[in-house]
Amino acid sequence: MREGSGCVAELKDVKGIGPKSLSLLNKIGINTIEDLVTHYPFRYELLERNELGSTDDGEKIVIDGKVESIPILMRFKAGLNKMNFRLVTPSGVVGVSIFNRAFLKNQLSVGTGITVIGKLDKGKNVITASDIKMGVLTNKMKIEPVYHCTSGLTNKNMSTYINMALLMYGKDIPDYIPEEYREKYDFSNKKTSLNLIHNPSTPEKLKEVTIRLKYEELFQFMFKINYLKQQIKKEKTGLERKIDRDKLKKFMDKIPFELTKDQLNAVDEILKDLEAPNRMNRLLQGDVGSGKTIVAFIGMVANYLSGYQSALMAPTEILATQHYNNLVDFLKKTKINVALLTGSTSKKEKTTIYKGLKDGSINMVIGTHALIQDEVEYNNLGLVITDEQHRFGVHQRANLQNKGVKPDVLYMSATPIPRTYALTIYGDMDVSTIKERPKGRQKIDTYVKGTAEIKDVLQMMYDELKQKHQVYVIAPLIEESENSGDLTSVNELKDQMKLAFGERYKIDIVHGKMATGMKDIIMEQFKNNEVQILISTTVVEVGVDVPNATTMVIFDADRFGLSTLHQLRGRVGRGTSKSQCILISDSDTERLKIMEREDDGFVISEEDFKLRGHGDLFGTKQSGDMAFKIANVRSDYKILLQAKKDSKEYLLNKDTDNDELKIKLINSITKES
Ligand code: ADP
Ligand code: MG
Repeated sequence: MREGSGCVAELKDVKGIGPKSLSLLNKIGINTIEDLVTHYPFRYELLERNELGSTDDGEKIVIDGKVESIPILMRFKAGLNKMNFRLVTPSGVVGVSIFNRAFLKNQLSVGTGITVIGKLDKGKNVITASDIKMGVLTNKMKIEPVYHCTSGLTNKNMSTYINMALLMYGKDIPDYIPEEYREKYDFSNKKTSLNLIHNPSTPEKLKEVTIRLKYEELFQFMFKINYLKQQIKKEKTGLERKIDRDKLKKFMDKIPFELTKDQLNAVDEILKDLEAPNRMNRLLQGDVGSGKTIVAFIGMVANYLSGYQSALMAPTEILATQHYNNLVDFLKKTKINVALLTGSTSKKEKTTIYKGLKDGSINMVIGTHALIQDEVEYNNLGLVITDEQHRFGVHQRANLQNKGVKPDVLYMSATPIPRTYALTIYGDMDVSTIKERPKGRQKIDTYVKGTAEIKDVLQMMYDELKQKHQVYVIAPLIEESENSGDLTSVNELKDQMKLAFGERYKIDIVHGKMATGMKDIIMEQFKNNEVQILISTTVVEVGVDVPNATTMVIFDADRFGLSTLHQLRGRVGRGTSKSQCILISDSDTERLKIMEREDDGFVISEEDFKLRGHGDLFGTKQSGDMAFKIANVRSDYKILLQAKKDSKEYLLNKDTDNDELKIKLINSITKES
């Protein structure tokens, strides 16, 4: 988190950081001094101390002692320097030489306690030190920080830069914990804490400052969430409207199935939000296939009935198109005018749509990112819905909201979020949850198979195809970007499937690099059962709805998190026929077998969370939202709760309204989004 700027100096001002190291640091995301000193070790190594007598010639030695003679500094050409002094240790006196640490000279007086790490020359009785740690260490171990580095930038470089930055600018690094809380918990100040996290003296101290730094990070985060929540609650939308429930009911009566209790509840909550003077900021979460879309559509109709435009944003063109077709179908025989706006909408069409959105003749628009382009102006946008919202970053979400005056906002997510997470990232939102599945849905049988069992898999596919059902195949290899390696693999797979199934069934491919128009055509053909086997990379992951597809085969299943597998599996089992999912993998089968047992998305996401942390839940694009440097939402849950409580108290405390820190915290939020 890069917020505030208490430190005016720049990275390049840190002694020792030249242009080359600067660019290496930038490469790993370190751009400011604050970034550098909060580049925390990801683990520590315990170095055991040695004794002089029991260390062999030329061996590595780690030894504590006190400086016995004033260090003598020698300077050579090319900036090289060397320092010599004597060290008294419990196992005798030894000479120490160290290169290029002239800056340590003033800290090394006679009697200073230090730990020396280096190589012992037994004959000369001298240690050529690679590092010197300041301070008397009481415990038997030396704790060495280990950093994430990059080629050309060693762990030692990192440690040196960090310590130099702390030495030069440590007192300028902003402390985000208000004084009252620092006192309350007896936390050390920021500089001391940073010094200790990078140079821990004892495990106890390390633990103490770790908690303190975690608290600070979570305090900042929760302050932000609390502030946003407060702002939203304060804002009157001006969209205090009455919704004609009778008219709405007429629409709802046309729905060809019975809504589940959870769906009805969600609809009810949304309607109440729409009518209330406060701005809606609601998350609709439900397992894949739980039927969120229809709930969103009802919300859009209600919004229309009260006289406003709606926009629904989906993460892919395939999804946007699917929603559009469904919505048009749902609204047939009404006067409601719906438009589809995506990247592949022609320029001419776009101009017409922009015009219609501006003059209000278009009532509802569905699209991708194209909806948040600057050219798009709305006449009276009253409701914004984003589907699969975890795919959009905070920034994009904010952008769409700015399009309307203060439209109500509904987010939909099929990734069930463990409670702990919901509390943090969605802490500023109200949540509606759909747990119950639509009637007639059956459990999807899941099997983990090894690559040697591919024949069985083909047989299983064949059995379904014979019954006129369709099959999804998720191709091996993950990335569909950069290298075209996977294209080969998808094509190869197609050839293999052709060999296995002959010409009886039509096989086609969709992948990320394909022109979008082409993708849509193939998806449409799959929907219409003109294609029976659809091979794809993970583009079908979200939302696509083809009830006749009953089998999902996933190659290299071990590369996916359980939540993703659950999402993929959710593409089948959408009709009334029994469906199955086959996970092919030779490794990690214990983890995959969880999928055989479990079909509750919430339980699976909890398991995933335990096994892999939050990475898989949010994907890399989103990680910026949740990038904690030291805190971990799961294991630091207690600290999180405390930070939540404190930050709220601090935010609401009128006495602190003129605090420099409070203003700084608030500014950092508005700057970010
Ligand atoms: P998701 O929550 O994953 O977005 P969808 O909204 O795409 O799920 O719904 C999945 C399928 O279930 C769709 O074909 C939809 O028409 C259907 N569906 C939704 N609600 C019900 C219901 N109450 N009864 C029967 N089918 C339903
Ligand atoms: Mg959906």
